[in-house]
Amino acid sequence: MSNVPQAMCPRTAPVPDHPTGRAVSAAAVEPRTPGLHVSPSRRAVAANDRPTISFELFPPRNPDAAPRLWNTIQQLETVKPDFVSVTYGASGKTRVTTRALVRRLLRETSLNPIAHLTCVGTSREEITTIVGEFLDEGLRSFLALRGDPPTDQSDWAAHPDGLQTASELVELLRDIEAKRCADSPSQAVRARVRPLSVAVAAFPRGNHATGGTRAQDVASLLAKQEAGADFAITQVFFDADDYLGIVAEAREAGVTIPIIPGIIPTTDPARLLRVQELTGVPVPHDLLDLLGSADDELDRHHRGIRASVDLVNGVLDGGAPGVHLYTFNQHHAALDLLEGAHLDGGARTAPDLASWPQDTAPARSTRD
Ligand SMILES: Cc1cc2nc3c(=O)[nH]c(=O)nc-3n(C[C@H](O)[C@H](O)[C@H](O)COP(=O)(O)OP(=O)(O)OC[C@H]3O[C@@H](n4cnc5c(N)ncnc54)[C@H](O)[C@@H]3O)c2cc1C
Repeated sequence: MSNVPQAMCPRTAPVPDHPTGRAVSAAAVEPRTPGLHVSPSRRAVAANDRPTISFELFPPRNPDAAPRLWNTIQQLETVKPDFVSVTYGASGKTRVTTRALVRRLLRETSLNPIAHLTCVGTSREEITTIVGEFLDEGLRSFLALRGDPPTDQSDWAAHPDGLQTASELVELLRDIEAKRCADSPSQAVRARVRPLSVAVAAFPRGNHATGGTRAQDVASLLAKQEAGADFAITQVFFDADDYLGIVAEAREAGVTIPIIPGIIPTTDPARLLRVQELTGVPVPHDLLDLLGSADDELDRHHRGIRASVDLVNGVLDGGAPGVHLYTFNQHHAALDLLEGAHLDGGARTAPDLASWPQDTAPARSTRD
């Protein structure tokens, strides 16, 4: 199994934004989803000759949801994503289920998992133990986050021996790895074969949860890079200019690591509104109107996919290295979006709408 960020770039070398959009192969592949019309100029490309694609998953909330998630994972695996990330519930409340899902992904799939990890409410010692457990399982990639304090606990206080920022967590991850390598020559060799990689978050419109502006987030991103981050994944946004704007400001400030746009397939208005509520990122009215005036669910799905394809094309044409899709543990919209943007490598062999729209999950956030 190749190491994801190593494949993307060595830690020390800056990686340029894609200069002219994406590489294309000679063979055009028509979209297979009935009624889905996208630009014919987009062409399917092989998995290693295309922008990176990746997915966010969350651990199943109850055992009944596990088989459906596993089916989703198998469907997503067909497009050979570069990695999948697994969320960590607020204040670490999914520690056990996140670890179980990551372990299963490592053991039973060809996928490269990245474990989200937060530091809010946890001591340095506890984080060190958790990281050690993941590393012992064979995990080599983390998404280092500060996390949000719980909103439902009025008596909540930061851990006295905890970390304050994501960049401190990046530093701790690097220290833990360095100590493991110093303590064991075997670990040192393994680390050279599969280096530890650390991703971080970026916020194209500033971090609403912390009241931060985009300029503050760029400063924070620079600190994360200096602490040893390899690449960043953005929060959701609905206008390509938001992404292109933060990349431009970050580059100006000296941030050289790749910044991958985080994209939500915009097919479900209820979910979009829930995401707006949680992230503070406003959903454009014209997008909601577009979805709201659809004839039926299939029409709404097509409209949403087309809008998402436009967003994906906008960021890739602006130089994004790839796209990270917020799946909400569902594969249909994510795969239709990739197919519409000709990023699925022609992997799908048949229209995959047979079970849609029955496979619907509650319109909840992946962070719950
Ligand atoms: C892709 C992605 C995945 C996520 N996954 C999860 C998840 O699985 N679980 C979860 O609970 N949450 C998740 N979140 C939410 C995230 O944890 C929160 O939004 C949190 O409030 C900020 O996290 P951070 O890692 O960016 O923190 P930080 O970068 O540490 O920022 C926290 C605050 O400190 C400030 N700050 C930090 N360092 C500096 C500096 N050097 N200079 C100036 N200001 C600074 C920032 O401006 C900000 O106000 C995710 C967010 C994203 C974008």
